[in-house]
Amino acid sequence: MTTLRNQLLFISTFTLISLTTPSYGANSHWGYHGEKGPEHWPALNAAYQQCLGKNQSPIDIRNTVSTTLPELQINYQSGSKRLTNNGYTLQADFKPGSYINVDQQRFNLLQLHIHLPSENLVRGQRFALEIHMVHASDNGELAVLGLLFKHGKPHAGLDAAFSSLPTKKGESIPLTGLSAQSLLPRNTAYYRFNGSLTTPPCTEGVRWLVFKEVGEASPEQLKALKALIPRSNARPVQPANARLIAE
Ligand SMILES: [Zn+2]
Repeated sequence: MTTLRNQLLFISTFTLISLTTPSYGANSHWGYHGEKGPEHWPALNAAYQQCLGKNQSPIDIRNTVSTTLPELQINYQSGSKRLTNNGYTLQADFKPGSYINVDQQRFNLLQLHIHLPSENLVRGQRFALEIHMVHASDNGELAVLGLLFKHGKPHAGLDAAFSSLPTKKGESIPLTGLSAQSLLPRNTAYYRFNGSLTTPPCTEGVRWLVFKEVGEASPEQLKALKALIPRSNARPVQPANARLIAE
């Protein structure tokens, strides 16, 4: 464990949106590079066939359709539990009580995690960092909020949220003060599309909402995160195919 002051870190949480098997040990059959890299995921396990689907994430957000998306209803409480370095990302788990409403359904915030660099692109542009906030409804449907960050000024929410970091793979430390609210952009306008988990088993049917406003993180903050995830943990962009991307 290292203090944030020393390492300027913050969050890392990334994806393993896999809700039931977040341990890095259980997921060590796949990776982001080489023989276990994304192009080989479908061949690694019969359960990963969905990675060949037509509605996969991430995507390049472009050719959007303008519509009237409802204002996002976000109700986040402070109430994090643990911060874990699972070997793929840093993941913060939350206590019950934080949720968003989408399509008249409540989706409870389960965890957030980070990707370096961003997984989703906007009109071809990739960003330095993407945070995924993973939510599930009572009937098991998923909704992910994507937050994009570029190089810039220090982000107070990131600093405040992560006072210490689990630097070793498999390390998990108590984390009680993280407020997901402090990471949100001021303007909560968003893109919306249908997608998947970006890690095996690449489950589809995930509601994706990516904020248009891009946050900033300082070079020091990004460097501290990069120390924990030295190589990219971003799955390559997948074809949009017949999907509609609304804004
Ligand atoms: Zn993710």
